[in-house]
Amino acid sequence: MTFRSKAIEVAQSRLALHLAPPPEKITELYGINTFNEEVMRGLLSPEAYIKISNAIRSGSNIDREVAEEVATAMKSWAISKGATHYTHWFQPLTGTTAEKHDAFFDLSSNGKALEKFKGSALVQQEPDASSFPSGGLRATFEARGYTGWDPSSPAFLMDNGAGGKTLCIPSVFISYTGEALDYKAPLLRAINMLDKAATAVCQYFNRDVSKVTATLGVEQEYFLVDKALYYARPDLVMSSRTVFGHSPARGQQLEDHYFGSISPRVNAFMVDFEFEALKLGIPVRTRHNEVAPGQFECAPTFEEINLAVDHNALLMDLMQKIAEKHNFKVLFHEKPFAGINGSGKHNNWSMSTDTGINLLAPTTKPKENLRFLTFLVNVIKAVHDHADLLRASIASAGNEHRLGANEAPPAIVSVFLGADLTKMLEELVSRGEITVEKGENFYYKLGINRIPNLLRDNTDRNRTSPFAFTGNKFEYRAVGGSANSASPMIVLNSIVAKQLLAFKKELDERLSRGEEKKIAVVEILKQYYLDSKKILFEGNGYSEEWVQEAASRGLSNIATTYEALREYVSPAAIETFESIEVLTRRELHARYEIELENYIKRIQIESRVIGDLALNHVVSTCVKYQFKLAQTARSLTDLEMVDEAAPIKEIIKDISDHVVVIKRLVYEMVESRKRANNIPDSTERARLYTEEVKDYFDKIRYHVDKLELLIDDEDWPLVKYREMLFIK
Ligand code: ADP
Ligand code: MG
Repeated sequence: MTFRSKAIEVAQSRLALHLAPPPEKITELYGINTFNEEVMRGLLSPEAYIKISNAIRSGSNIDREVAEEVATAMKSWAISKGATHYTHWFQPLTGTTAEKHDAFFDLSSNGKALEKFKGSALVQQEPDASSFPSGGLRATFEARGYTGWDPSSPAFLMDNGAGGKTLCIPSVFISYTGEALDYKAPLLRAINMLDKAATAVCQYFNRDVSKVTATLGVEQEYFLVDKALYYARPDLVMSSRTVFGHSPARGQQLEDHYFGSISPRVNAFMVDFEFEALKLGIPVRTRHNEVAPGQFECAPTFEEINLAVDHNALLMDLMQKIAEKHNFKVLFHEKPFAGINGSGKHNNWSMSTDTGINLLAPTTKPKENLRFLTFLVNVIKAVHDHADLLRASIASAGNEHRLGANEAPPAIVSVFLGADLTKMLEELVSRGEITVEKGENFYYKLGINRIPNLLRDNTDRNRTSPFAFTGNKFEYRAVGGSANSASPMIVLNSIVAKQLLAFKKELDERLSRGEEKKIAVVEILKQYYLDSKKILFEGNGYSEEWVQEAASRGLSNIATTYEALREYVSPAAIETFESIEVLTRRELHARYEIELENYIKRIQIESRVIGDLALNHVVSTCVKYQFKLAQTARSLTDLEMVDEAAPIKEIIKDISDHVVVIKRLVYEMVESRKRANNIPDSTERARLYTEEVKDYFDKIRYHVDKLELLIDDEDWPLVKYREMLFIK
């Protein structure tokens, strides 16, 4: 019996877990494992509570006494709910979350056991930074970094798997010289900058707006594979994707998986993690099957970005943990299976004011729609001017398989508005001289009154656009399934902030020359629209025509990760980030180095896995099978059944042909890897990994997948696609 057949037997015998639904109502369950504002109000003195609320809302500093009081309250709350340890929970640039647990338990000076958690431990911790990537920052600057409490994201309790709980404190991770070593620190800077810039622009329309919050709703796609089958695929274990595997007879051509019913086992898993997510204050809302077999999606309701990013990272952790219980493995990789859809993480993004206005939602009041158009067109202009940075923000080894690889959003950044909205902007621009008019007449003449109707009728959804307007928000669809959403959100919020600052400057100049406000706004928007029109695209983003058309428009089409990442250190990008104080030149260089190293390591691992599986699993199986065939052929020949032996000999020959090529290609791939590894410059090394090493992957795969069809199913060592995708 092969490892594969044992794994299949185990997987097929599994039953759905029976879960007793929690006795509480969802509304009672929601957030019970978080140290949220309501809990704080109950446990803190009124003074401390006011100070911490202000810190949450405006980022103001927290003094020592308040930190002490919060720490004491947090400790007693956590211990009362079964926590034994606490940790600063942060998001290093490796793309996963990190924690270092410390016990509340301590000894007093006279040796007595006590439970301790000081304000200083809440505010600041020192993880061992040397084990996290820092892209040369540490070498050049300071050997250690620290994590610092982010009060704007509530602390929460996680099961530690052994019956106890850990109090997790969301934190930033920075070096002692102040450089960001994580995703959260620059994200907080970016959303703060966007708040300032957008609030200032709002002032022209609504004087009472004092804060703009960027909002994010993350739709997370993922695959589920039975745990036994997962462990029987060394490529999934080592590189999170299958490097070989012939397409099943039935892939997604029937599209019957989408909105189909969810199997009981999968459903039990979903119900289970959703309850746990709700307890952690993650507002999960929708669940459904995705297009590909074995693929699913989960979408929470949108929240303030910093929270939404934390919640997405936490949700990914949680899903992995809960999946263990259900004997599943969750795959967030962008392309775990060739030939069927990959997984993205659609980032739905908008901005809303403290007066309750969604700045990207048109209204029935024509006057307010000038504000809507202002934000809409500024976002378009920002994307147009910084398309390459947006591309850089989603570049990774996994996403390289999606973007531009004739599936999913193309590597070309473009914006979809919908035909009607585009037409309306065209008309706005083509109106000649605009004059001030009484009342709403001005807006009627410009056609601004028609926007909400347009959008209501406009149900056309462009699923091939990387960045689509969907009625009251933008959906950044090109983000990879395993990415940390902070990466694209740092860029998006920064470039929009920068653009809004430029808009304000231009508007102020015009106003100081005595121009009428609404005319000045319209004139600037007209110009922005003309400047950035070429980024707008309504057609099929997957088509070859678009690639041609985009090239003739002069839009970038950056297919590879190492080229996309280079934009982070371009003079324009450095200027952009430094001018709005989100990332310094040094931080950008550090990020660039880390991402490149990350990329190289991933391709290196994949290459090793491919070599190992090809030679030690596939070729060795083939040789054994050939021996069986040869014995059969000889027996037939002995029986003077020469004609009957002929086709068997042919199969032996076919197998040999593939085996010979595989051996040669693996040898060449290893040689190219050695060459690449000897290059000290990481950009050049990444280039060699992309252009030479990775080039062998599909070539080797072609022959292995052919062999899968030639070898007796009983002997084939690797779990097949149909088994991974359909056994649920
Ligand atoms: P659609 O059908 O347009 O995809 P949904 O209501 O299903 O709309 O929303 C998809 C995602 O977009 C959800 O996560 C939702 O919370 C999020 N979303 C909705 N409105 C906003 C907004 N104003 N800002 C950010 N995200 C939003
Ligand atoms: Mg959507």
